[in-house]
Amino acid sequence: MNDLQIDDIKTDENAAMVLLVDDQAMIGEAVRRGLSNEENIDFHFCSDPHQAIAQAVRIKPTVILQDLVMPGLDGLSLVREYRNHPATKDIPIIVLSTKEDPLIKSAAFSAGANDYLVKLPDTIELVARIRYHSRSYMTLLQRDAAYRALRVSQQQLLDTNLVLQRLMNSDGLTGLSNRRHFDEYLELEWRRSLRDQSQLSLLMIDVDYFKSYNDSFGHVEGDEALRKVATAIRDASARPSDLPARYGGEEFVLVLPNTSPGGARLVAEKLRQTVVSLKIPHNTPAEGASLTISIGLATMVPQSGSDCRLLISAADRGLYLAKNNGRNQVGIE
Ligand code: GH3
Ligand code: MG
Ligand code: MG
Repeated sequence: MNDLQIDDIKTDENAAMVLLVDDQAMIGEAVRRGLSNEENIDFHFCSDPHQAIAQAVRIKPTVILQDLVMPGLDGLSLVREYRNHPATKDIPIIVLSTKEDPLIKSAAFSAGANDYLVKLPDTIELVARIRYHSRSYMTLLQRDAAYRALRVSQQQLLDTNLVLQRLMNSDGLTGLSNRRHFDEYLELEWRRSLRDQSQLSLLMIDVDYFKSYNDSFGHVEGDEALRKVATAIRDASARPSDLPARYGGEEFVLVLPNTSPGGARLVAEKLRQTVVSLKIPHNTPAEGASLTISIGLATMVPQSGSDCRLLISAADRGLYLAKNNGRNQVGIE
């Protein structure tokens, strides 16, 4: 069934594929004749019970007619075997018995048979039962296929949502987190630090003389320089909980949870030097200069009732100091 699609099943809803397993060729012939005028019923006969499972797996019947008494193999054991095989476990089984016997009947049903007929049944009854069981099996297959398709599309939806989430959180130019995600993340980490009474550090990073860089080299070069600075900031964030983000324009931030002022200062100083070592040529403040950044740093242990904007303002004041003291440095209020 696995290679059947929902549509295949739908179009063949009324078709039945019958497999009769009986050691007597005469029975096979009689059933074949009985079904020969029926539209949409395919008939297969298996006279060797040892071949029954293999044949069922191959032809994928929608109904199995199973003789109970056969030399060498008991029909009830065969019914149990169909039920234990993954390819045949749901196929409706009508057992054909030589007599109406409540004990045999009950044994057949508990072995997993779906129906019980005394041979040879009248054609009208046989056809009606075949059609009934076949249709209910097809419905089962359709339902299973629909569930499988549903699971696939649910998974696709989850994957798409992940991609969307990533897009929604990231800055188009640099690939870092965007302002929206930074705001969310800082709020979250602020609350975590409040609970743990741990130190939360924040770097506010601003490119020096960047307006003049754009004016001198153009916005395309300006964008390229911003990407390089962004990569340096990404590389500076060593821990999984560190979050580098583009705050806006040529300003970036780096959230450093669980980080002391000393630790944050090391990160900031290293980042500043990394940007210097990129040697991106600039002509401000003097000819032959290279692009630099200024960094404001703040660390806080949040107090209850306080707001994470306190930390942003403090880092901002640090940045202001760094700019005022000559740029290309780390400022701490
Ligand atoms: P300071 O050293 O005091 O920071 O001076 P500055 O020139 O860097 O600061 P200012 O805030 O005056 O200028 C920032 C410039 O950054 C303005 C704008 O041209 C540029 N900028 C902002 N966003 C982008 C961007 O996405 N791409 C490019 N190429 N430039 C940008
Ligand atoms: Mg700026
Ligand atoms: Mg600037």
